Amino acid sequence: MSRLTVAACAAALIAACLPAVVHAQGAAPQMVLVRAGNLFDSEAGRMVGPRDILIRGQRVAEVGQGLAAPEGATIIDLGRCSVIPGLIDVHTHLLLEQREREGLSDVAARDQGVDGDVYRTLVGAQRARQYLEAGFTAVRDLGNSGQFLDLMLERGVNDGRVPGPRIYGSGPGLAPEGGQLEPLTDDPHQLVAGEYRIVNGVDDARAAVREAVARGADVIKAYPEATPQRTRLSVAEIEAIVSEAKRHGIPVAAHATSDAAIREAVEAGVTSIEHGYEISDETLRLMASKGVWLVPTDPSLEMALEFTASWPQQPPREEIDRHLQAGRDRLMRAHRLGVRIALGSDLYFPYAAGRGAGSRATLDGYVEAGLTPTQALQAATWEAGRLLGDDALGVLRSRSWADLVAVEGDPTQGLAPLRTPRLVMKGGRIEAGAADHCAS
Ligand SMILES: [Zn+2]
Repeated sequence: MSRLTVAACAAALIAACLPAVVHAQGAAPQMVLVRAGNLFDSEAGRMVGPRDILIRGQRVAEVGQGLAAPEGATIIDLGRCSVIPGLIDVHTHLLLEQREREGLSDVAARDQGVDGDVYRTLVGAQRARQYLEAGFTAVRDLGNSGQFLDLMLERGVNDGRVPGPRIYGSGPGLAPEGGQLEPLTDDPHQLVAGEYRIVNGVDDARAAVREAVARGADVIKAYPEATPQRTRLSVAEIEAIVSEAKRHGIPVAAHATSDAAIREAVEAGVTSIEHGYEISDETLRLMASKGVWLVPTDPSLEMALEFTASWPQQPPREEIDRHLQAGRDRLMRAHRLGVRIALGSDLYFPYAAGRGAGSRATLDGYVEAGLTPTQALQAATWEAGRLLGDDALGVLRSRSWADLVAVEGDPTQGLAPLRTPRLVMKGGRIEAGAADHCAS
């Protein structure tokens, strides 16, 4: 048999087997036509009425009114529902859970010394599924994930072996001496090195960025200051991290809580400020002028009530409300000064309803602060997509990812419909729910 014949036979065999293989893996049908009762335009920030979304493979081919279904296309009738782009949480910790009375060093000891990487990653996979089921089709995972376990999970999701959102992982955060662990008089089991990439000096900062890039990181997580630890990176180290990240075309998310550290990070050119607890108006103005995102990670009232429920004496609701007010004021100061806001939950405490529900609850907190439901939705779609740097994310239009969520009612009138997502699609494939509740 000639080489050519062998090749032809092999090709024929593959062609014969392919449909069965594709079916067995449950791959998305090639063409899907979604008929949405109402569509959220995440860029414009408004519902635009009934729209049809034609999906080819993993991407949207066309959005329009009264589109004809191409031959062989699967039609999904969501005529009674609103469709929004898949939600995005830009600050998650898939591999971290801090339990009651644990410090971060206790968590690191449990993760590294008791549970180990394998079990830790399995639990991370469970959380990934929770995000997806809550309508979150993408997350940016920012460290406290051992040594690149986030990227391991990302690979599993990308390979179709683990259900989960698109993961944009950072690998271990680039931190000053000690990382975020409480000051340890001794660290015999190298817990700090197990969770962070400690940076010492400008050359080392650049090397750390290249290490992350080489391992496949999608974003650099940097700790200009490592609160609750007191150590800080030098300005030169922060600048080196940012410039090396820019050379590699990768964004930098900066954990910073004091105004001084935030300012240094913003001046160095980071992409986003995480938390920003003590930020001044002056620094917010600088962020607005430089297009730096703020990722407000404050809990909503519902979350704070759950976090305090197990306290020996739960503070009265009014006191919790008062405590949350500082975060709400900060978010609204940022918004009024023109700072871009992207949703980030930073949830790493046990949360009964699951991680994805926590992200949704965080968004409720943005509305409690004073954003309109529409602005909050934009923080979790359009703004988050722009922050992640992928034009195809957080929006539903030609060539975007076919990531969408169907909900009953109009989510721009109030976020309650997000509590019960009826159908979640990622990359043209239904990942959770069904069209039943939405069929017209
Ligand atoms: Zn965090």
